[in-house]
Amino acid sequence: LALKNQGVSQATLTVAVRCRPLLQAEVDADVLPITRVVDNKMVLVLEPELPPEKTFLSERFTQSMDTRQRERRYAFDYAFDSDASNKGVYQHTVQALVPGVLKGLNGTVFAYGATGSGKTHTMVGDANDPGLMVLSMNDVFELMAKEPDQQFDVTCSYCEIYNEVIYDLLAPSSGPLDLREDPALGAVVAGLSRIRVESAERILSLLQEGNTRRKTESTDANATSSRSHAVLEVTVVRREVQGSQMGSYSGKLCMVDLAGSERASETNNRGRQLKDGAAINRSLLALANCINALGKRKKTGFVFVPFRNSKLTRLLKDGLCGNSRTAMIATVAMARSQYHHTVNTLKYADRAK
Ligand code: ADP
Ligand code: MG
Repeated sequence: LALKNQGVSQATLTVAVRCRPLLQAEVDADVLPITRVVDNKMVLVLEPELPPEKTFLSERFTQSMDTRQRERRYAFDYAFDSDASNKGVYQHTVQALVPGVLKGLNGTVFAYGATGSGKTHTMVGDANDPGLMVLSMNDVFELMAKEPDQQFDVTCSYCEIYNEVIYDLLAPSSGPLDLREDPALGAVVAGLSRIRVESAERILSLLQEGNTRRKTESTDANATSSRSHAVLEVTVVRREVQGSQMGSYSGKLCMVDLAGSERASETNNRGRQLKDGAAINRSLLALANCINALGKRKKTGFVFVPFRNSKLTRLLKDGLCGNSRTAMIATVAMARSQYHHTVNTLKYADRAK
């Protein structure tokens, strides 16, 4: 436990990539798809053809280049093509983490990608295609039903981190909340609502309601660009009768819909919005360093995770350190206009392996 508090991790990490299909509006606008998935493992990205002025400026470069389009390849634990459902993604990533949560282990799940690439669709989804947050809750309740002689308590909280400040998404008008270090409990958000969940059906509407409170800001990149990280934390406490005593242990599943990963410099941001971009990058960078450390664990067996550098990673400490399990789903859109976002996302995910 002492080591755990210093950030030592034996966590396992699964890295998956999901390509979202072209939307009808993109199909109507003749948008070209440039990503392809091979063998459920590999993502191929075609480099967009060089713009005409490049060709003009550097004829020699063009001549020496293969006339075929070049492609980049990245391999992951799983690569999901545009026809994958949330259920399919769930079965290969998060599902394996859920039984452990009922046994007192922790799990962490992220969706990482540019705005519009499908993070919220993957994590929250809708009634037709419920996302990973909802599907995991379904499984929690199904697994509990198989142990009717056990007592379980399921609670959840849903907060956002915006500009390194934490807000409650389950409370109608939340002010900034403090992140405190409790010697026994670790990082605790003071005053964050914790809701007792009696059934999985309630969770989708709770999340959708919570999402309407997320801070969105109109940027040139996307009118509803999401500038905050949304964190759903599900805690399962099991109470057991041990002889004449009552014992209990708890597991935690953290699921995070990260802010859009596009760089602040790529959007035409100024003033406050630029600051937002910087803070988001700080959290994402801190997370990248943690994920990167987890990836290295495969070689050494354990690793020190630098979780102290941002609110997000402090909040996720329990899920990143100790013997927890982590799944990262990187989302990319297939459109050619998204080439740079796609390659940046795949590189980020690639570093985590
Ligand atoms: P993000 O949260 O990354 O900004 P969204 O999840 O809001 O992106 O997705 C952007 C749009 O694409 C939404 O209209 C969403 O319904 C749609 N979309 C995303 N992923 C998929 C998918 N796998 N299949 C079908 N539509 C999708
Ligand atoms: Mg979103």
